[in-house]
Amino acid sequence: MSTLKAVRGTRDLLPPETELWNFVEETARRVFAGYNFGEIRTPIFEDTQLFARGVGEETDIVSKEMYTWEDRARAQSEKAQSLTLRPENTAGVVRAYIEHKLGETGLLQKLYYIGPQFRRERPQKGRYRQFWQIGAEVIGPPSAGAESPLRDAEVLEMLATFLDELGITGWRLEINSVGSATDRPRYIAALREALAPVKHLMCEDNQRRAETNPLRVLDSKDPNDQEIIDKLPKIADYLDEVSKAHFAAVLAALDACGVEYEVNPRLVRGLDYYTRTTFEFTHGGLGAQNALLGGGRYDGLSEAIGGPKAPGIGFAMGEDRLILTLEAQAAKQTSFADAYLAPMGETLNPAALELARELRRGGLRVELGDGAFRLKKSFEMGNKLARKIVLFGEDELQSGILTVKDFASGEQVKVPRAELVAALKQN
Ligand code: ATP
Ligand code: MG
Repeated sequence: MSTLKAVRGTRDLLPPETELWNFVEETARRVFAGYNFGEIRTPIFEDTQLFARGVGEETDIVSKEMYTWEDRARAQSEKAQSLTLRPENTAGVVRAYIEHKLGETGLLQKLYYIGPQFRRERPQKGRYRQFWQIGAEVIGPPSAGAESPLRDAEVLEMLATFLDELGITGWRLEINSVGSATDRPRYIAALREALAPVKHLMCEDNQRRAETNPLRVLDSKDPNDQEIIDKLPKIADYLDEVSKAHFAAVLAALDACGVEYEVNPRLVRGLDYYTRTTFEFTHGGLGAQNALLGGGRYDGLSEAIGGPKAPGIGFAMGEDRLILTLEAQAAKQTSFADAYLAPMGETLNPAALELARELRRGGLRVELGDGAFRLKKSFEMGNKLARKIVLFGEDELQSGILTVKDFASGEQVKVPRAELVAALKQN
């Protein structure tokens, strides 16, 4: 019988990598709490209609990436229902906002989620069929100030803080405004006009997009079409005064708190309920899949899925890509213990356990070796697991002076037991 394996595009996360996942999630929870966000957990599958309406029929996600099935009716009275594994979480959060009438509190709802999402894509580095997103939404009735540009800036500042706290360096924030639902038709008309004489020179995909959804031509990555795309009209020139003022206020608030950004006029979203601010954080270390996260304002989304007017802004981060970035820059070696305890002889095992307990209570991460291991084996094991090794035999235990070796520097020192915790905490 052939051996069974994890399905293509899915994978197991094992220790020590899971430590890094926990570190990322704990950091998210801690940072978001400081902005008074609360956690929401929505179901992993929803009615297919939610995504068709909430993400949009013409998006890649809905048109070709969803895992959808017909759920069998269990009784005559039950109707078969089309269900879908969630490909993203914003639609689910907004559905919950509507279902639980959260708007009636009159307060701004600040909700974050952490969980798996599913898309049938071609698997490659940084792109999987089950992947994790950490995201957040700020949504509420207009009376709660949900439309304020301060909300956009605060979310962006929170993301900058989060990435900094993770220790991810070298990220870039690109930002744009796609205007309001009234700005966009004028812009799309201008795009169509500009594309008409040149579209036959473009790749097949772009020729099709030029017809169906010209906005999507702007985020094409086809290298041969870039020259044409660079010359197309810019949405900034088609924003009305209100949209312009909103964008200027977001940028001014970012300037005031020192969050760096770059305006990218090509950053667009093709759907009508996406309004004004759109953004993406990218990282050079990720190769082709360079987007760490994407987000934006969606003032029309709640109404698009049958809810009350509830402007909002949110983002979704690819947790897999955050992990890849952290691993690549080895910014956080959480997989390493502080010390490997190496007792020289089996009779020392009980004393070793006692010492391990002492060090762990001192806040250290300790790997406990076995007294059956010889010196060479202890060094091999210690080097794989910890930054430093603590060696002790009967004599050391009697005298209370232990030997500590640092693997990185090769330095070896004698340390009194009372000072061991402090010595091991030093880098
Ligand atoms: P991409 O252009 O990389 O396909 P997207 O526009 O489809 O991204 P969104 O739907 O905005 O992405 O999702 C937000 C984030 O989720 C992305 O920036 C990315 O970090 C992550 N993400 C999206 N799809 C995947 C996937 N299949 N595997 C891993 N991460 C993903
Ligand atoms: Mg995608």
